[in-house]
Amino acid sequence: MTDIIVQKYGGSSLKSPERIKAVAQRIIDTKKRAKSVVAVVSAMGKSTNELIGLASQVSEQPIAREYDALISNGENISASLLSMAINDRGVKAISLTGAQAGIRTESLHKKAKILDVRTQRIQDELDKDQIVIITGFQGINQYDDITTIGRGGSDTSAVVLAAALRCQECEIYTDVDGVYTTDPRLEPAARKLTEVTYDEMLEMASLGAKVLHPRSVECAKENEITIHVRSSFNEHEGTRVRKESVMEVNQPVTGVTLNEQESIISIVGVPDQPGIAGRFFSYLAQQGVNVDMIIQSVENKTEPVNNISFSVLEDDLSLATKLTEEMAQTLKAKSVSTDSSIAKVSIVGVGMMSRPGVAAQMFQTLGESNINIKRITTSEIKVSCAIDRDKASQAVQLLHDAFGLAVVTQ
Ligand code: ADP
Ligand code: ASP
Ligand code: MG
Repeated sequence: MTDIIVQKYGGSSLKSPERIKAVAQRIIDTKKRAKSVVAVVSAMGKSTNELIGLASQVSEQPIAREYDALISNGENISASLLSMAINDRGVKAISLTGAQAGIRTESLHKKAKILDVRTQRIQDELDKDQIVIITGFQGINQYDDITTIGRGGSDTSAVVLAAALRCQECEIYTDVDGVYTTDPRLEPAARKLTEVTYDEMLEMASLGAKVLHPRSVECAKENEITIHVRSSFNEHEGTRVRKESVMEVNQPVTGVTLNEQESIISIVGVPDQPGIAGRFFSYLAQQGVNVDMIIQSVENKTEPVNNISFSVLEDDLSLATKLTEEMAQTLKAKSVSTDSSIAKVSIVGVGMMSRPGVAAQMFQTLGESNINIKRITTSEIKVSCAIDRDKASQAVQLLHDAFGLAVVTQ
């Protein structure tokens, strides 16, 4: 019998009282094959969005401490309901908030990193043979204030807990059967992957495959924990995210991802002097803004000025725009503009390292369908292109097809 099994149930698996009861039964069944079970939960359905909507009705820029105190509540509701449903079936369970479970984070709000889990309380409850239900997405900082760890962060809570409890595997239950070659809701011909490497999954998650939170994959990689992504609606085997794929890599591309949550900020007429880019991007980094897809170009050969443009996630857009405007004034730049009409489509695969021409094939595929590429970024195992948002789903389907990822029908 396995010692401890850590499972995570996402909002899509807990969206109604009926679903909570179904998950309760699933956890009880898990307890039959393990000495102890820890279940990490997200908020029911899209209830976190509803809380964010409420915040925006009372405040234009909700202050971060109260924002976290508010949006962490969705997880509290599902944890206690799930515990009630399990107890109702005659099995002992207890819900713990992030603070009660000893999840300590950085002091930063909205996207705090988990620093440490003090597992004593969890261990005590497990020793009493309780199933322990823990709220994902939240922790507590050095001031004893509630923090949240970024949208979609419950996956990370689960993997961090699995690491703290020394488990080798973490089961992530969701509403699809596993990780697919692309979002199965965008491309019905998408194929479920039996396994995927940490590095590929990290790229896919960071580039928009929201089935896993990127930091959950980072944490799994650091601790060599296998993530098993599977459906809470059936018993099928899912996808294993692990160090190395035992299957031979015979395709250059493993997956296609789409991110429609990025916008471009451009700052025009920046003096062409050494150190300016460093000063500007350090300023953004200090305020916790992550930037991507940076382009610097010379505006006018007769004048020593540059244009710098970069992309940021929509969540950071208003802060990043404000900071860029402040910097534009300090640097005496000409203007700042934003563009939210882009989408980033990417191809990911460890197989592309050994094959030339993969990027070229991507550009050609988009070009043949008249999809204009506005920006390009690459790494060893990915190529990303920014394109018009209204061409995004078409681009995903074209690339999925061009790289032979679809289910083979005989
Ligand atoms: P949960 O509520 O369980 O956390 P999410 O909505 O966060 O679920 O993540 C699951 C969703 O991720 C799926 O419903 C699917 O639409 C989307 N998704 C995006 N890319 C992929 C992919 N490559 N494989 C599987 N699902 C994906
Ligand atoms: N409930 C949180 C969110 O909607 C965390 C999660 O779902 O993982 O972002
Ligand atoms: Mg999720």
